[in-house]
Amino acid sequence: MTTIALELTRLRTEIAHTAEQAGRSVQAVQLLAVSKTFSAEAVAQAALAGQRHFGENYVQEGIEKMAALRALPTTAHLPLVWHCIGPVQSNKTRQVAEHFDWLHTLERPKIAQRLGAQRPAHLAALQVCIQVNIDASASKAGCPPEEVASLAEEVGRWPGLQLRGIMAIPDPQPTPEATLALHQRAVRIFEQLQANGWPQLDTISLGMSADWPQAVAAGSTMVRIGSSIFGARVRNSATATPQ
Ligand SMILES: *Cc1c(COP(=O)(O)O)cnc(C)c1O
Repeated sequence: MTTIALELTRLRTEIAHTAEQAGRSVQAVQLLAVSKTFSAEAVAQAALAGQRHFGENYVQEGIEKMAALRALPTTAHLPLVWHCIGPVQSNKTRQVAEHFDWLHTLERPKIAQRLGAQRPAHLAALQVCIQVNIDASASKAGCPPEEVASLAEEVGRWPGLQLRGIMAIPDPQPTPEATLALHQRAVRIFEQLQANGWPQLDTISLGMSADWPQAVAAGSTMVRIGSSIFGARVRNSATATPQ
């Protein structure tokens, strides 16, 4: 087995164990492998080890990787699912609408309108999570909690978009307890949305390499993990393929 395959196996076991300890089903937590800055070959290794869902932050980098994987004989036949997990400006919405299966980082109605209008009719609806700013820090991305309901309504107007839930990136906290509390706040925002007209929502995109155990304990249904699978990123993600 490759290192990537070994790390995936180890991580899957740990996630299952953590879910069980939290009284949750092992199937309740999906693993999204964050492949930003890593090569198509690294993604291929993960795909051959059974990983299907991949996350990319940079739209152009993601599209190039999708094409490279379709051209690789070992992975050309594998149905991979691509998630855009980076911020999306207006000038990138068309590329997201035409190439990705999921978007985790919807934060404004204008972006929803553009994606809804640009999603090609022959593709399944773009699966959307609303990114929520749960720390209320002005510097950070995400929709303020009080605007989540109206943004959800905007998503609901477009046949080319399907709302699945919320995503959050909680700020690092000094203790695991404080981290857990912040993740629980994100889960409550999801539950409020579910209770207010969106019973079909099923996705809480929460948890990265450093904090996924607390996210799983709080109720995350999708952890986004990069470095624990692929290794440390050499390029700073903020400078890779700027857009
Ligand atoms: C990079 C990134 C991840 C993965 O981070 P790791 O610490 O490598 O697990 C998850 N989510 C988002 C939004 C990211 O940008």
